[in-house]
Amino acid sequence: MAETRRTKVLIVGSGPAGYTAGVYAARAMLEPILVQGMEPGGQLTTTTEVENWPGHTEIQGPELMVNMEAHAKAMGCEVITDIITAIDFEKRPFTARSDSGTVYVADAIILATGARAKWLGLPSEEKFKGFGVSACATCDGFFYRGQEIVVIGGGNTAVEEALFLTNFASKVTLVHRRDALRSEKILQDRLFKNPKVEILWDHQLDEVYGTDNPLGVEGVKVKHVKTGAVTDIPAKGVFIAIGHAPANELVRDVLETHMGGYVVTRPDSTETSIPGIFAAGDLTDHKYRQAVTSAGMGCMAALEAERWLAEQGDDVEIAAE
Ligand code: FAD
Ligand code: NAP
Repeated sequence: MAETRRTKVLIVGSGPAGYTAGVYAARAMLEPILVQGMEPGGQLTTTTEVENWPGHTEIQGPELMVNMEAHAKAMGCEVITDIITAIDFEKRPFTARSDSGTVYVADAIILATGARAKWLGLPSEEKFKGFGVSACATCDGFFYRGQEIVVIGGGNTAVEEALFLTNFASKVTLVHRRDALRSEKILQDRLFKNPKVEILWDHQLDEVYGTDNPLGVEGVKVKHVKTGAVTDIPAKGVFIAIGHAPANELVRDVLETHMGGYVVTRPDSTETSIPGIFAAGDLTDHKYRQAVTSAGMGCMAALEAERWLAEQGDDVEIAAE
């Protein structure tokens, strides 16, 4: 028989937003339960140096997230390795089903499911995913020691991944669809100075090609966005770094979304259109998408959940509006 866990506040997600909500909700004596999801620690576990988390000139992303988890636990937040598969928003208390079979019953829920890497959607990208095509340099860069690598994109992720990959690769070609990068200037400076990096402006990935047996990448064909001219770049690894989309699967049919799927919250608030459901971090933020802003929203969500629960008194067990 499935186990049922009752809590005042269920936090879904273990990135900076989720763990910060955990710290604040625990300190408000709400005895929160936090469900980590398939990526404990969230997106920062897929990067190396983080240089813009206040208090640390530099800290490794995975280390920062281990610290945040320990902090939330030390304050009294229960952290559970599980994945929420569905939430019933129709009546209160809310019911969340999970991969493990455990049912979480909660008076309030803080959604902090963050964002996931986007893909281009090319058939050849799909074919070689996991066999030379990747969206995570820190996870897979090591496989390409002494090889040539292509990175697609022009934002902070693409530039950081290209720089990180120079630790392994003989050459990194960054392919960007415009003639200017979107990433921060400090990262651009480092990229332009790196002798292992070549930048191909105004080009789009057209096709990844390689061998079938064994499955493996041999190169890419990229197309000039204006002339249509095709260039062949030999490479053993292709890293797609074209941005992230909000992980809204649990709520997209129920909550209002905008700007490509980000959950809408009330202005200056983490309240969603359903009372008792709060949303924080990259799930709601199409603009800043930073660790520190996500953590800030996690704090807001816990404070708002605490106030909302206090206002409800004993009335949380009613039909949701
Ligand atoms: P995320 O970190 O995305 O975490 C989402 C969490 O939700 C995960 O734990 C996941 O397991 C969980 N989850 C999802 N679905 C479910 C489910 N169904 N059930 C339970 N849990 C679920 N920002 C900076 O400020 N500085 C940087 O240097 C920096 N570097 C970055 C480098 C890379 C490569 C990337 C990809 C991003 C970087 N960012 C950086 C951005 C930063 O990582 C994000 O803004 C931040 O992690 C968002 O935090 P979050 O808590 O909203 O969600
Ligand atoms: P992003 O900022 O949205 O950049 C995505 C890049 O991919 C853009 O250069 C975009 O081109 C390009 N792109 C998008 N769709 C494409 C397509 N179909 N074909 C080719 N190119 C495409 O995404 P991100 O770099 O992943 O960053 C996401 C968030 O995380 C940002 O807020 C970022 O600041 C944050 N982050 C921060 C750090 C840090 O602080 N050090 C590190 C990593 C990420 P255009 O420029 O032409 O639109």
